[in-house]
Amino acid sequence: MTCVTKVGIDDFVLLDEITLDKFLENLSRRFRAGLIYTYIGEVCVSVNPYRTLNIYEQDFINKYKDRELFENPAHIFAIADHAHRCMKQRGQDSCVVISGESGSGKTEASKIIMKYIAAVTNLAGRQEIERVKNILIQSNTILESFGNAKTTRNDNSSRFGKYMDINFDFKGDPIGGHVNNYLLEKSRVIMQQPGERNFHSFYQALAACNEEDLKRLSLRNDPFGYNYTKYGGVASMPDDRSQYRATVSACKILGFSTQEIETLWNVVGAILHLGNVTFTTEEDEVKIIDTNSMNKTADLLQVNAEELKRTLCERVIAARGEIMQKSHTLIEAEFGKNALAKAIYDKLFTWIVSKVNSAIDPQLTTNIRSKGTVIGVLDIYGFEIFDRNSFEQFCINYCNEKLQQLFIELVLKQEQEEYKQEGIEWQTVEFFNNQIICDLVERPHQGVLAIMDEACLNVGKITDEMLLDAMDKKLNSHQHYSSRQLKPLDKQMVHKTEFRIKHYAGDVVYNINGFLDKNRDTLFQDFKRLLYSSHAPVISNMWPEGALDITMTTKRPLTAGTLFKNSMIALVKTLSSKVPYYVRCIKPNEEKSPASLDEERVSHQIRYLGLLENVRVRRAGFAHRQTYDRFLKRYKMISKFTWPNFTAGTVKDGTQVLIEEKGFKNDVKYGKTKIFIRSPTTLFALEKMREDL
Ligand code: ATP
Ligand code: MG
Repeated sequence: MTCVTKVGIDDFVLLDEITLDKFLENLSRRFRAGLIYTYIGEVCVSVNPYRTLNIYEQDFINKYKDRELFENPAHIFAIADHAHRCMKQRGQDSCVVISGESGSGKTEASKIIMKYIAAVTNLAGRQEIERVKNILIQSNTILESFGNAKTTRNDNSSRFGKYMDINFDFKGDPIGGHVNNYLLEKSRVIMQQPGERNFHSFYQALAACNEEDLKRLSLRNDPFGYNYTKYGGVASMPDDRSQYRATVSACKILGFSTQEIETLWNVVGAILHLGNVTFTTEEDEVKIIDTNSMNKTADLLQVNAEELKRTLCERVIAARGEIMQKSHTLIEAEFGKNALAKAIYDKLFTWIVSKVNSAIDPQLTTNIRSKGTVIGVLDIYGFEIFDRNSFEQFCINYCNEKLQQLFIELVLKQEQEEYKQEGIEWQTVEFFNNQIICDLVERPHQGVLAIMDEACLNVGKITDEMLLDAMDKKLNSHQHYSSRQLKPLDKQMVHKTEFRIKHYAGDVVYNINGFLDKNRDTLFQDFKRLLYSSHAPVISNMWPEGALDITMTTKRPLTAGTLFKNSMIALVKTLSSKVPYYVRCIKPNEEKSPASLDEERVSHQIRYLGLLENVRVRRAGFAHRQTYDRFLKRYKMISKFTWPNFTAGTVKDGTQVLIEEKGFKNDVKYGKTKIFIRSPTTLFALEKMREDL
């Protein structure tokens, strides 16, 4: 085992001064020494090391198993162990909320937690539990292939939010799980920014296209030969082919049938071919230039090629009882094609998640009726500020507002409750409550989402600019909202099409262009009918809405924004019903380098993750608290009254005797089951006495 020397302090609560400089200094000293984890009480702050550290092997697992946080150097294993132990001993559901910006190490952290849990459970070696553990871990491989992509910030960036529950039986062994996915960034299917790629799955299919099982896709291993994989200017990565094999193998382990695996790759191939379909206009009618790509698409989707051609070029409309065909304009045809590609991929992803869920369903995997207790792991996109921010960033940042709100509630609530339970007086710490920003986004009738939905009702009549006008009118007095139109002198905004939200994590300027389309998120009904008619059952089943006849009126589907809002509200509800653990991930630099910590970038993250406030709250009254028996066990050797054992009373009495002997009486309070120590220096002194023995 690597010998871990003590560098800096293990818990920010023990900082002698709570300032950004001191926080940063401790973080960077530890980072340089390879100590990437530091606590704030029970919150684990993690800095992405950008290198392989030997701190996740069996010897480390043994060291952290069944131990309290303070007994070992700070480690994410300790958080996982704590969550697992509480769940096992008290039957409490818990959740680990992992947050941080893109590339900060959230997904790696979630996998480390899962591996730790897998390593410390099923010591009896039950076969069905081993199988469950394997499928839980393998499910990551599939979800990452289809939901992750190379971006400029992270070579393996999750482009969807993920919340995974792991279910445990009464022995604390995993019996299954459930994945909830949030808002896949489907715009990536049709367009990538320079230096970025489409989802990994496309390149996996291209890299492996000569393998026997993919020959039918008629692809060439040339990402630049396909419109949908060429925009970012980044070709294959070295492990695309091996990742293809890993994905297929994971699908098999999860019980996907051969036919299902085949359809999965057929859809990926079909989208690549669809991207190469180009249009022209002849006598006011849209025509397809390259029917070859179109035919391959039809082939792989198992739909009629003539029908596909027709739906790409025109649409059927019912007006005054008559059914008519209306040719698209060139722009409509392009738009329709891209909407089709995005919708098919999105449905495919949802289908994959549902397959994963049936494979890990605890009732099906182990035949156990009860769902047992759960540990949820949330790995969701962090706050995003790009040069150009659109609807996706708006949703993602709203999600972060909700999670920050939850963090405020839970951290405060938990602290308050603990003080109350223990009969200790509570002092309030002031910090910014971002509820006002959540309201700005989600308030009925008045919030951005409601205004957007209202605009979406007026199909064809309202433009993005008109939406912005409507927002300006309703929100102009809101402290956290401004727009170019309202403040023409504001230098930060260049276009009239922009609005700004003052998020808790910083100001973000959004460009309104595309908001309405993305919120409405519609696909021409003709495409739905076409896909429903597919001879591939998997595809057909993805499109039940295609069964409707043209003359039947359908209920207006919920908009993308409202669906997202509902899923966020449900997520917050789920999380707040569990005992929360937090892992706050920090990205040390933009270069993916193990050697540097960019102080400015890191300070920004410390600020917006609210880490200093977190330390302050934690220290509001007391830097440290511990149950009497644990406390005595740790320090009994420093007092002759308690060593080797205290026999003259309860553990509380023993603690009191020890504290008084050492002269710390005025710095502590005695709760019902715990001792509360006010200043970190007392804790330092106790620790030092222990070390000096
Ligand atoms: P995104 O929001 O884009 O999905 P993320 O926060 O999930 O980002 P990860 O994909 O977990 O970021 O991490 C990015 C990369 O950083 C990983 O692919 C890996 O190379 C490296 N990394 C992260 N955490 C660790 C770790 N604990 N040990 C070694 N390398 C790590
Ligand atoms: Mg990720």
